[in-house]
Amino acid sequence: MLRNQKLFARCLLALALAAATASAACGRAREVSEASAKSPISAAEDSKSPALSLPPDNGPPPRFDDHRAMQYVKEIVAFGPRPVGSKNHKKVEAYFDAHLKGDEVEDDIFTADTPEGKFPVHNVIAKFAGTKDGIIVVASHYDTNYPLRNTSYVGANDGASSSALLLELANQLRGKKRDGYSVWLVWDDAEEAIKPDTEVPFLDDSLYGIRHVAEKWEADGTLKKIKAFILADMIGDADLNVDRDSNSTAWLEDVVYEAATRLGYQSHFFARTLPGLSDDHIPFVKRGVPSADLIDFDYGYNDVFWHTTQDTVDKLSPKSLGIVGGTILETISILDRMNPLPPR
Ligand SMILES: [Zn+2]
Repeated sequence: MLRNQKLFARCLLALALAAATASAACGRAREVSEASAKSPISAAEDSKSPALSLPPDNGPPPRFDDHRAMQYVKEIVAFGPRPVGSKNHKKVEAYFDAHLKGDEVEDDIFTADTPEGKFPVHNVIAKFAGTKDGIIVVASHYDTNYPLRNTSYVGANDGASSSALLLELANQLRGKKRDGYSVWLVWDDAEEAIKPDTEVPFLDDSLYGIRHVAEKWEADGTLKKIKAFILADMIGDADLNVDRDSNSTAWLEDVVYEAATRLGYQSHFFARTLPGLSDDHIPFVKRGVPSADLIDFDYGYNDVFWHTTQDTVDKLSPKSLGIVGGTILETISILDRMNPLPPR
């Protein structure tokens, strides 16, 4: 999760939704507003969700082992801080490798040119084939904040929780051909800014891994096949309140809410709307891919645990992982059977 979004969130009370002019009052939040204004996606706030043709709610509820997912969170965190270029980061890469043995995995490895020099970046993409033509992507970043690299910061919620969730999704997806779209899980790397955003504009210095994936898939034609991009970020908080995000695609968020409602989880979703979150979904939103950022950006009172050494496992709950994991699987199941999907 990007650094200056915290300020942005703190400014929410002070800002009107159209924050561009008022943002100077909130210091670095200005960068977020400008970035939102720059991108074609700010129009999303005005767009109305089309009428959806939803399939009947007659399938079995999804399976998701929340305690196993929680165990993965603990194991990822146990490696210690995992900023890009670190030894611990390598250990987490090997950990994913071990868990995805036998799966179809694409390693997207490249060198990122950052304000602190060159860093190796390693996106891990596990592909689970379906019978339908099209792909649903579920993503999570796994690196920890670079400026905090010499502290005990382990990003239990920010990075580990969602990455563990994806590992459990892989457990549920493997071993059978899906009767639906293919599902690709992406553990993206170098999401966090390298420099404090006081020094480098954050959009110029973050999302290195997922930007690379989006560019590559645009070049090779994969992008056209992607029906939905679902991002999980900071979803392990025991006090789970997933926010609606105005940069996300309204109809896809509506499907997520429908999925949550079918499972009885709706009280954990979308009570609050955040204007213009800049997260890993942005490179896909910009390219016209329906995208939803599932993020609980209220981590502790006034977000006090976010990007601090307080972001530890004791703040999390397996139940929250299960709620978001189940909702993502149910969302995929609804998307599989929606005919037609809304046009891009
Ligand atoms: Zn973060």
